[in-house]
Amino acid sequence: MREVILLKLGEIALKGLNRRSFEDVLIKNIKRRLRDAGEFTVTSRQSTIYVEPLGDGTDMDLAEERCARVFGVVSYTRAGAAEKNLDKIQEQAAEYLREELEEARSFKVECRRSDKKFPYQSPEISAQVGGYLLERYPHLQVDVHHPDLEVRVEVREQSAFVHANARPGAGGIPVGAGGKGLVLISGGLDSPVAAWTMAKRGLALTAVHFASPPYTSELAHDKVVRLLRKVSQYAGRIKLVTVELTHLQEEIRDRCPEDLGTVILRRYMLRAAQQVAEQEGCQCLITGESLGQVASQTLQAIACTDAVAEMPVFRPLIGADKAEIVQLARRIDTFDTSIEPYEDCCTIFTPRHPRTKPTLEMVERGEQAIDGKMLLAEAMQNLQTAHISAY
Ligand code: ATP
Ligand code: MG
Repeated sequence: MREVILLKLGEIALKGLNRRSFEDVLIKNIKRRLRDAGEFTVTSRQSTIYVEPLGDGTDMDLAEERCARVFGVVSYTRAGAAEKNLDKIQEQAAEYLREELEEARSFKVECRRSDKKFPYQSPEISAQVGGYLLERYPHLQVDVHHPDLEVRVEVREQSAFVHANARPGAGGIPVGAGGKGLVLISGGLDSPVAAWTMAKRGLALTAVHFASPPYTSELAHDKVVRLLRKVSQYAGRIKLVTVELTHLQEEIRDRCPEDLGTVILRRYMLRAAQQVAEQEGCQCLITGESLGQVASQTLQAIACTDAVAEMPVFRPLIGADKAEIVQLARRIDTFDTSIEPYEDCCTIFTPRHPRTKPTLEMVERGEQAIDGKMLLAEAMQNLQTAHISAY
Protein backbone atom coordinates (compact mmCIF):
# COMPACT_ATOMS: atom_id res chain seq x y z
CA MET A 1 0.00 0.00 0.00
CA ARG A 2 1.30 3.40 -0.97
CA GLU A 3 1.04 6.04 1.73
CA VAL A 4 1.74 9.76 1.43
CA ILE A 5 1.58 12.84 3.63
CA LEU A 6 -0.60 15.68 2.39
CA LEU A 7 0.11 19.19 3.63
CA LYS A 8 -2.35 22.02 3.15
CA LEU A 9 -0.92 25.45 2.59
CA GLY A 10 -2.08 28.22 4.88
CA GLU A 11 -1.91 31.92 4.23
CA ILE A 12 0.66 31.49 1.53
CA ALA A 13 -2.10 30.31 -0.78
CA LEU A 14 -3.32 33.91 -0.69
CA LYS A 15 -0.09 35.64 -1.53
CA GLY A 16 -0.80 36.22 -5.19
CA LEU A 17 2.31 36.69 -7.26
CA ASN A 18 4.62 35.74 -4.40
CA ARG A 19 2.97 32.42 -4.05
CA ARG A 20 5.43 30.59 -6.24
CA SER A 21 8.49 31.76 -4.34
CA PHE A 22 6.77 31.05 -1.00
CA GLU A 23 6.02 27.54 -2.15
CA ASP A 24 9.59 27.04 -3.30
CA VAL A 25 10.92 28.10 0.10
CA LEU A 26 8.43 25.80 1.83
CA ILE A 27 9.37 22.81 -0.29
CA LYS A 28 13.05 23.41 0.33
CA ASN A 29 12.41 23.63 4.09
CA ILE A 30 10.41 20.39 4.09
CA LYS A 31 13.09 18.54 2.13
CA ARG A 32 15.75 19.68 4.57
CA ARG A 33 13.70 18.49 7.56
CA LEU A 34 13.09 15.08 6.03
CA ARG A 35 16.70 14.36 5.20
CA ASP A 36 17.21 11.73 7.88
CA ALA A 37 13.74 10.16 7.53
CA GLY A 38 14.53 8.51 4.19
CA GLU A 39 14.04 9.52 0.58
CA PHE A 40 10.96 11.50 -0.39
CA THR A 41 9.71 13.53 -3.27
CA VAL A 42 8.06 16.78 -2.26
CA THR A 43 5.84 18.43 -4.84
CA SER A 44 3.10 20.99 -4.89
CA ARG A 45 -0.18 20.64 -6.75
CA GLN A 46 -3.45 22.48 -6.25
CA SER A 47 -2.64 24.12 -2.88
CA THR A 48 -1.45 20.81 -1.48
CA ILE A 49 2.08 19.63 -0.91
CA TYR A 50 2.61 15.93 -1.51
CA VAL A 51 5.28 14.19 0.51
CA GLU A 52 5.76 10.82 -1.14
CA PRO A 53 8.18 8.16 0.07
CA LEU A 54 10.56 6.73 -2.49
CA GLY A 55 10.99 3.01 -1.97
CA ASP A 56 11.28 1.35 1.42
CA GLY A 57 13.50 2.57 4.20
CA THR A 58 11.45 5.67 4.89
CA ASP A 59 10.26 6.46 8.39
CA MET A 60 6.73 7.81 7.92
CA ASP A 61 6.15 8.48 11.63
CA LEU A 62 9.28 10.59 11.80
CA ALA A 63 8.38 12.34 8.55
CA GLU A 64 4.94 13.17 9.92
CA GLU A 65 6.42 14.52 13.16
CA ARG A 66 8.75 16.74 11.16
CA CYS A 67 6.00 18.02 8.88
CA ALA A 68 3.97 19.01 11.96
CA ARG A 69 6.66 21.57 12.79
CA VAL A 70 7.11 23.22 9.43
CA PHE A 71 5.79 26.78 9.28
CA GLY A 72 3.55 27.52 6.30
CA VAL A 73 1.48 24.36 6.72
CA VAL A 74 -2.03 24.89 8.04
CA SER A 75 -2.98 21.22 8.34
CA TYR A 76 -1.52 17.83 7.51
CA THR A 77 -2.62 14.26 7.23
CA ARG A 78 -1.37 10.88 6.16
CA ALA A 79 -3.33 9.42 3.31
CA GLY A 80 -3.60 6.07 1.56
CA ALA A 81 -3.28 6.19 -2.20
CA ALA A 82 -5.66 4.17 -4.37
CA GLU A 83 -5.94 3.45 -8.04
CA LYS A 84 -8.51 5.70 -9.71
CA ASN A 85 -11.30 3.21 -9.82
CA LEU A 86 -14.33 3.25 -7.54
CA ASP A 87 -13.92 -0.33 -6.26
CA LYS A 88 -10.30 0.27 -5.37
CA ILE A 89 -11.12 3.56 -3.64
CA GLN A 90 -13.82 1.89 -1.53
CA GLU A 91 -11.53 -0.95 -0.52
CA GLN A 92 -8.71 1.39 0.33
CA ALA A 93 -11.03 3.54 2.49
CA ALA A 94 -12.19 0.45 4.38
CA GLU A 95 -8.64 -0.89 4.88
CA TYR A 96 -6.61 2.24 5.37
CA LEU A 97 -9.02 3.77 7.89
CA ARG A 98 -9.88 0.50 9.66
CA GLU A 99 -8.91 1.68 13.17
CA GLU A 100 -10.75 4.97 12.88
CA LEU A 101 -13.84 3.28 11.42
CA GLU A 102 -13.91 0.69 14.19
CA GLU A 103 -13.67 3.36 16.87
CA ALA A 104 -16.23 5.77 15.41
CA ARG A 105 -19.96 5.49 15.94
CA SER A 106 -20.93 7.86 13.18
CA PHE A 107 -19.25 9.05 10.01
CA LYS A 108 -19.71 10.81 6.74
CA VAL A 109 -17.80 10.76 3.47
CA GLU A 110 -16.66 13.97 1.80
CA CYS A 111 -15.28 13.79 -1.69
CA ARG A 112 -13.30 16.27 -3.78
CA ARG A 113 -12.72 15.53 -7.38
CA SER A 114 -10.20 17.74 -9.09
CA ASP A 115 -9.78 15.29 -11.97
CA LYS A 116 -12.88 16.16 -13.95
CA LYS A 117 -12.25 13.24 -16.28
CA PHE A 118 -13.03 10.75 -13.54
CA PRO A 119 -16.41 9.31 -14.57
CA TYR A 120 -18.26 9.88 -11.27
CA GLN A 121 -19.13 13.18 -9.65
CA SER A 122 -18.25 13.95 -6.04
CA PRO A 123 -21.70 13.36 -4.44
CA GLU A 124 -21.94 10.04 -6.20
CA ILE A 125 -18.49 8.96 -5.05
CA SER A 126 -19.36 9.95 -1.47
CA ALA A 127 -22.58 7.97 -1.60
CA GLN A 128 -20.94 4.87 -3.06
CA VAL A 129 -18.03 4.85 -0.63
CA GLY A 130 -20.41 5.57 2.27
CA GLY A 131 -22.63 2.63 1.29
CA TYR A 132 -19.65 0.31 1.04
CA LEU A 133 -18.32 1.35 4.44
CA LEU A 134 -21.75 0.80 6.04
CA GLU A 135 -21.74 -2.74 4.72
CA ARG A 136 -18.23 -3.43 5.97
CA TYR A 137 -18.76 -1.74 9.36
CA PRO A 138 -22.42 -2.31 10.24
CA HIS A 139 -22.11 -0.64 13.67
CA LEU A 140 -21.68 2.74 11.96
CA GLN A 141 -24.33 5.34 11.32
CA VAL A 142 -24.20 8.18 8.86
CA ASP A 143 -24.29 11.63 10.45
CA VAL A 144 -23.75 14.48 8.02
CA HIS A 145 -23.79 17.21 10.67
CA HIS A 146 -21.64 16.02 13.60
CA PRO A 147 -19.91 12.79 12.61
CA ASP A 148 -17.20 11.26 14.82
CA LEU A 149 -15.21 10.60 11.68
CA GLU A 150 -15.00 12.37 8.36
CA VAL A 151 -13.72 10.10 5.63
CA ARG A 152 -12.17 12.19 2.90
CA VAL A 153 -11.75 11.01 -0.65
CA GLU A 154 -9.72 13.12 -3.05
CA VAL A 155 -9.60 12.21 -6.69
CA ARG A 156 -6.61 13.98 -8.16
CA GLU A 157 -4.83 13.88 -11.47
CA GLN A 158 -2.22 11.35 -10.51
CA SER A 159 -4.07 9.19 -8.02
CA ALA A 160 -6.96 8.97 -5.55
CA PHE A 161 -6.34 9.41 -1.83
CA VAL A 162 -8.34 8.53 1.26
CA HIS A 163 -7.73 9.98 4.69
CA ALA A 164 -9.40 10.91 7.96
CA ASN A 165 -9.55 14.29 9.68
CA ALA A 166 -6.45 16.41 9.08
CA ARG A 167 -4.47 17.69 12.06
CA PRO A 168 -3.63 21.34 12.62
CA GLY A 169 -0.14 22.21 11.34
CA ALA A 170 2.31 24.76 12.74
CA GLY A 171 0.69 27.58 10.74
CA GLY A 172 2.52 30.77 9.80
CA ILE A 173 4.73 31.53 6.80
CA PRO A 174 7.70 29.45 5.56
CA VAL A 175 10.94 30.28 7.38
CA GLY A 176 13.11 32.45 5.17
CA ALA A 177 10.27 33.81 3.04
CA GLY A 178 10.13 36.95 5.19
CA GLY A 179 13.83 37.81 5.48
CA LYS A 180 16.30 37.31 8.27
CA GLY A 181 16.14 38.45 11.90
CA LEU A 182 18.70 38.53 14.69
CA VAL A 183 17.25 37.36 17.99
CA LEU A 184 18.81 38.50 21.26
CA ILE A 185 18.72 35.26 23.20
CA SER A 186 19.27 35.19 26.93
CA GLY A 187 18.51 31.76 28.32
CA GLY A 188 15.34 33.02 30.03
CA LEU A 189 11.77 32.10 29.25
CA ASP A 190 10.89 34.92 26.94
CA SER A 191 13.49 35.18 24.21
CA PRO A 192 13.17 31.59 22.85
CA VAL A 193 9.42 32.12 22.60
CA ALA A 194 9.98 35.46 20.86
CA ALA A 195 12.35 33.74 18.42
CA TRP A 196 9.82 31.02 17.64
CA THR A 197 7.04 33.58 17.18
CA MET A 198 8.97 35.56 14.58
CA ALA A 199 10.21 32.44 12.78
CA LYS A 200 6.52 31.57 12.47
CA ARG A 201 6.05 34.78 10.53
CA GLY A 202 8.66 33.74 8.00
CA LEU A 203 11.93 35.07 9.42
CA ALA A 204 15.06 32.94 9.21
CA LEU A 205 16.98 33.34 12.46
CA THR A 206 20.48 34.20 13.56
CA ALA A 207 21.02 34.57 17.32
CA VAL A 208 23.25 36.72 19.47
CA HIS A 209 24.01 35.93 23.09
CA PHE A 210 25.86 38.21 25.50
CA ALA A 211 28.08 36.55 28.03
CA SER A 212 30.23 38.02 30.79
CA PRO A 213 32.78 35.46 31.90
CA PRO A 214 33.88 34.79 34.56
CA TYR A 215 30.69 36.20 36.09
CA THR A 216 28.57 34.04 33.81
CA SER A 217 29.44 30.38 33.33
CA GLU A 218 29.85 28.05 30.41
CA LEU A 219 26.67 26.36 31.64
CA ALA A 220 24.65 29.48 30.80
CA HIS A 221 26.01 29.34 27.27
CA ASP A 222 25.23 25.65 26.99
CA LYS A 223 21.67 26.37 28.09
CA VAL A 224 21.28 28.89 25.27
CA VAL A 225 22.54 26.31 22.78
CA ARG A 226 20.01 23.76 24.01
CA LEU A 227 17.20 26.31 23.83
CA LEU A 228 18.09 27.23 20.28
CA ARG A 229 18.15 23.56 19.37
CA LYS A 230 14.50 23.35 20.45
CA VAL A 231 13.60 26.47 18.48
CA SER A 232 15.44 25.08 15.48
CA GLN A 233 12.98 22.18 15.28
CA TYR A 234 10.66 24.81 13.83
CA ALA A 235 13.01 27.53 12.63
CA GLY A 236 15.65 25.42 10.89
CA ARG A 237 19.39 26.05 11.27
CA ILE A 238 20.39 28.93 13.53
CA LYS A 239 23.83 30.52 13.70
CA LEU A 240 24.70 31.67 17.21
CA VAL A 241 27.13 34.54 17.75
CA THR A 242 28.38 35.06 21.30
CA VAL A 243 29.68 38.46 22.36
CA GLU A 244 31.61 39.02 25.61
CA LEU A 245 30.50 42.12 27.48
CA THR A 246 32.52 41.66 30.65
CA HIS A 247 34.67 44.76 30.36
CA LEU A 248 31.79 46.94 29.25
CA GLN A 249 29.63 45.75 32.15
CA GLU A 250 32.41 46.39 34.66
CA GLU A 251 32.86 49.89 33.33
CA ILE A 252 29.13 50.59 33.53
CA ARG A 253 29.08 49.26 37.11
CA ASP A 254 32.08 51.33 38.16
CA ARG A 255 31.38 54.61 36.39
CA CYS A 256 27.72 55.11 35.43
CA PRO A 257 24.88 56.09 37.80
CA GLU A 258 23.81 52.87 39.49
CA ASP A 259 20.07 53.33 38.96
CA LEU A 260 20.60 53.68 35.18
CA GLY A 261 22.99 50.76 34.82
CA THR A 262 20.46 48.34 33.35
CA VAL A 263 19.11 50.74 30.72
CA ILE A 264 22.63 51.73 29.70
CA LEU A 265 23.63 48.07 29.38
CA ARG A 266 20.56 47.40 27.27
CA ARG A 267 21.45 50.26 24.93
CA TYR A 268 24.88 48.72 24.45
CA MET A 269 23.35 45.31 23.85
CA LEU A 270 21.21 46.81 21.11
CA ARG A 271 24.18 48.61 19.55
CA ALA A 272 26.28 45.43 19.60
CA ALA A 273 23.37 43.41 18.21
CA GLN A 274 23.02 45.86 15.35
CA GLN A 275 26.64 45.41 14.41
CA VAL A 276 26.21 41.64 14.44
CA ALA A 277 23.01 41.99 12.39
CA GLU A 278 24.86 43.99 9.76
CA GLN A 279 27.66 41.45 9.58
CA GLU A 280 25.20 38.57 9.31
CA GLY A 281 22.84 40.18 6.82
CA CYS A 282 19.90 40.43 9.24
CA GLN A 283 17.34 43.17 8.65
CA CYS A 284 15.76 43.38 12.10
CA LEU A 285 16.27 42.58 15.78
CA ILE A 286 14.00 40.43 17.94
CA THR A 287 13.78 40.58 21.74
CA GLY A 288 11.64 38.87 24.37
CA GLU A 289 10.58 42.07 26.11
CA SER A 290 7.10 42.35 27.58
CA LEU A 291 5.74 45.70 28.70
CA GLY A 292 6.11 46.31 32.42
CA GLN A 293 7.63 42.90 33.19
CA VAL A 294 10.75 44.34 34.84
CA ALA A 295 12.26 47.81 35.40
CA SER A 296 14.03 47.79 32.03
CA GLN A 297 10.77 47.05 30.22
CA THR A 298 8.68 50.03 31.26
CA LEU A 299 7.58 52.28 28.43
CA GLN A 300 10.17 54.90 29.43
CA ALA A 301 13.02 52.37 29.63
CA ILE A 302 12.11 50.83 26.29
CA ALA A 303 11.97 54.31 24.74
CA CYS A 304 15.53 54.96 25.98
CA THR A 305 16.72 51.62 24.60
CA ASP A 306 14.92 52.08 21.31
CA ALA A 307 16.53 55.48 20.82
CA VAL A 308 19.74 53.77 19.64
CA ALA A 309 17.91 51.44 17.21
CA GLU A 310 18.65 51.90 13.54
CA MET A 311 16.62 48.94 12.32
CA PRO A 312 13.20 47.58 13.28
CA VAL A 313 13.18 45.95 16.71
CA PHE A 314 10.44 43.33 16.96
CA ARG A 315 9.12 42.53 20.43
CA PRO A 316 6.44 39.95 19.69
CA LEU A 317 5.70 39.38 23.41
CA ILE A 318 5.23 43.03 24.26
CA GLY A 319 1.53 42.51 25.04
CA ALA A 320 1.74 39.00 26.44
CA ASP A 321 1.29 38.03 30.10
CA LYS A 322 3.80 35.70 31.76
CA ALA A 323 1.18 32.93 31.87
CA GLU A 324 0.68 33.20 28.11
CA ILE A 325 4.42 33.08 27.52
CA VAL A 326 4.73 30.02 29.77
CA GLN A 327 1.99 28.30 27.80
CA LEU A 328 3.85 28.87 24.54
CA ALA A 329 7.16 27.82 26.10
CA ARG A 330 5.56 24.52 27.08
CA ARG A 331 4.16 24.05 23.62
CA ILE A 332 7.54 24.47 21.97
CA ASP A 333 9.22 22.51 24.76
CA THR A 334 11.62 25.22 25.94
CA PHE A 335 10.06 25.65 29.39
CA ASP A 336 12.03 23.05 31.35
CA THR A 337 15.33 24.26 29.94
CA SER A 338 14.51 27.94 30.46
CA ILE A 339 13.84 27.53 34.16
CA GLU A 340 17.27 26.01 34.88
CA PRO A 341 19.07 28.40 37.21
CA TYR A 342 22.31 29.60 35.51
CA GLU A 343 23.26 33.26 35.85
CA ASP A 344 22.72 35.53 32.90
CA CYS A 345 24.71 38.67 32.26
CA CYS A 346 21.58 40.75 32.89
CA THR A 347 21.31 39.48 36.42
CA ILE A 348 24.87 40.24 37.49
CA PHE A 349 25.55 43.71 38.89
CA THR A 350 21.84 44.52 38.93
CA PRO A 351 21.17 47.87 40.60
CA ARG A 352 19.38 47.75 43.96
CA HIS A 353 16.87 50.35 42.82
CA PRO A 354 16.73 50.55 39.04
CA ARG A 355 15.02 53.68 37.77
CA THR A 356 11.70 52.73 36.19
CA LYS A 357 11.09 56.07 34.48
CA PRO A 358 14.43 57.17 33.03
CA THR A 359 14.51 60.03 30.53
CA LEU A 360 16.67 59.94 27.42
CA GLU A 361 18.55 63.01 28.60
CA MET A 362 19.45 61.35 31.91
CA VAL A 363 20.59 58.18 30.19
CA GLU A 364 22.67 59.94 27.54
CA ARG A 365 24.39 61.98 30.23
CA GLY A 366 24.98 58.91 32.41
CA GLU A 367 26.49 57.08 29.47
CA GLN A 368 29.18 59.72 28.95
CA ALA A 369 31.08 58.37 31.95
CA ILE A 370 32.46 55.50 29.87
CA ASP A 371 34.26 55.20 26.55
CA GLY A 372 31.45 53.19 25.03
CA LYS A 373 32.77 53.28 21.49
CA MET A 374 36.08 51.74 22.47
CA LEU A 375 34.44 49.16 24.75
CA LEU A 376 32.03 48.13 22.04
CA ALA A 377 34.81 47.80 19.47
CA GLU A 378 36.73 45.67 21.95
CA ALA A 379 33.72 43.40 22.51
CA MET A 380 33.14 43.03 18.77
CA GLN A 381 36.70 41.86 18.22
CA ASN A 382 36.18 38.64 20.09
CA LEU A 383 33.14 36.86 18.70
CA GLN A 384 32.46 33.14 18.98
CA THR A 385 30.17 31.40 16.56
CA ALA A 386 28.33 28.08 16.54
CA HIS A 387 25.86 26.48 14.17
CA ILE A 388 22.82 24.98 15.78
CA SER A 389 20.49 22.46 14.30
CA ALA A 390 17.93 20.18 15.88
CA TYR A 391 18.61 17.21 13.61
P1 ATP B 1 14.24 36.45 29.00
O1 ATP B 1 13.23 35.61 29.68
O2 ATP B 1 14.24 36.26 27.52
O3 ATP B 1 15.58 36.29 29.62
P2 ATP B 1 13.73 38.70 30.64
O4 ATP B 1 12.34 38.84 31.03
O5 ATP B 1 14.65 38.04 31.60
O6 ATP B 1 13.80 37.95 29.23
P3 ATP B 1 15.56 40.88 30.33
O7 ATP B 1 16.61 40.13 31.05
O8 ATP B 1 15.28 42.28 30.71
O9 ATP B 1 14.16 40.15 30.35
O10 ATP B 1 15.87 40.86 28.80
C1 ATP B 1 14.97 41.34 27.86
C2 ATP B 1 15.39 40.83 26.50
O11 ATP B 1 16.72 41.26 26.21
C3 ATP B 1 15.44 39.33 26.44
O12 ATP B 1 14.19 38.77 26.13
C4 ATP B 1 16.44 39.12 25.33
O13 ATP B 1 15.85 39.30 24.06
C5 ATP B 1 17.43 40.25 25.56
N1 ATP B 1 18.54 39.78 26.44
C6 ATP B 1 18.64 39.83 27.77
N2 ATP B 1 19.78 39.27 28.20
C7 ATP B 1 20.45 38.87 27.12
C8 ATP B 1 21.70 38.19 26.88
N3 ATP B 1 22.49 37.83 27.87
N4 ATP B 1 22.04 37.92 25.61
C9 ATP B 1 21.24 38.27 24.58
N5 ATP B 1 20.07 38.88 24.74
C10 ATP B 1 19.66 39.18 25.98
MG1 MG C 1 16.73 37.50 30.97
